[in-house]
Amino acid sequence: MKRAAPNISEALSLLKSRYGDIPHTQLKHRNNTDLFVAVLLSPQCTDKQTNAVTETLFKKYRTFDDYANVDIRRLSADLGGLNYYKTKARNLKASAQMINDRFDGRVPKTMDGLMELPGVGRKVANVMLNEGFGIYEGIAVDTHCAVVSRRLGYSRHMDPKRIEQDLLRKIPEKEWGVVSSLFIELGRDTCKAAKKECKRCILKEICPSSNVA
Ligand code: SF4
Repeated sequence: MKRAAPNISEALSLLKSRYGDIPHTQLKHRNNTDLFVAVLLSPQCTDKQTNAVTETLFKKYRTFDDYANVDIRRLSADLGGLNYYKTKARNLKASAQMINDRFDGRVPKTMDGLMELPGVGRKVANVMLNEGFGIYEGIAVDTHCAVVSRRLGYSRHMDPKRIEQDLLRKIPEKEWGVVSSLFIELGRDTCKAAKKECKRCILKEICPSSNVA
C-alpha cells in the first residue's frame, strides 16, 4: 500500500539537513532592479540561460528608465538568448514604464502591486517578494516544486495555483519562505521530472512515491 504524504516538518528538516536552511535564488543580481528583471525574464528558461543573458544586459541597463526608454527592437535583440524574448522584451519595457509612472521608480513591495505589472504572475511576484523584500505571502510553484509536491503527496493538482493553495493549507506559515527553494533543490538533485533517483534521495524512507523498498 502507498504511504501517506510525510509529516511536513520531518520532510523539511531532512531537506534542510541536505540543502541548507534557506537556499537563495541562483539568478544573479546586484539589487532589486536587477532581481526584478532577472525574475521576469526567467520563466521557460534555465537559471544558467537567464544569467548568461543578464550578465551582459546589466552592464548596459542600470535603472528602470533605461528599460523604459530603450527602443523595443534593441531590447529584443539584447534578450535574444532567451525563449520568448520578444514577449519578454515587451513586458519588461511596459513594466519599467509602469514602475516609473505608478510606483516612483521602485519595485512594488506587495503582491497586488506586483501583479499589476505586465508579465508578472504569482510565481514571479512570490520570488520577488521573498528574495527582494523577505516578505512571504505565498509559495512560488515552478515545475520542480510542482513535481515534488505531487510525488510527496501534498497535492494532486497540475495547476500551479491549486498546488500553491494546497501547500499553503498544509505548511506552517513560518516555513513558506523555504519550501519552494528546498523543493527546487530536491527537484534538481534527485526528484527530476524525467527520472527520479530515489536511491540517492534524502526522503526515500518517507516518500509515498519512493521506489526504494
Ligand atoms: S523518494 Fe523519489 S519520488 Fe520521492 S522525493 Fe525522492 S526522488 Fe522524488
